[in-house]
Amino acid sequence: MITQHDDKEGYCKMLGHFLTFNYCRSVSNNLPCNKVLDCWFQHFAIQEFIDKNYTVEEQELIFTPQKPKIQSLSDILKQAQKRLQESKS
Ligand code: SF4
Repeated sequence: MITQHDDKEGYCKMLGHFLTFNYCRSVSNNLPCNKVLDCWFQHFAIQEFIDKNYTVEEQELIFTPQKPKIQSLSDILKQAQKRLQESKS
C-alpha cells in the first residue's frame, strides 16, 4: 500500500525541519522528491517501496536530474536566436 510509510518522520536537510514521508512521496506533482532514496534508506526499504509503487517511466521522471533554470533559459534563448536567423535568410 502506497500510504504505508506516510506517518514516518525524518529530518529534511533541504527544508531544515522534520516532516513526514507523506510529503516526500508526493512533493513533485504527486511523485517523490528526487532525494527520497538518500533521505529514507535508514528508515525502511525505500528502494523496494519505489520499485513496487512506481513504473520505470515514473522512476525516470523522479530521478533524472532536472536542468538548472539558467540552463533552460539559455536553451530557449539559443532556439529563439536560431529561429530569428533562419527567418532572416
Ligand atoms: S526526500 Fe526530499 S523533501 Fe523529503 S526529506 Fe529528503 S530532501 Fe526533504
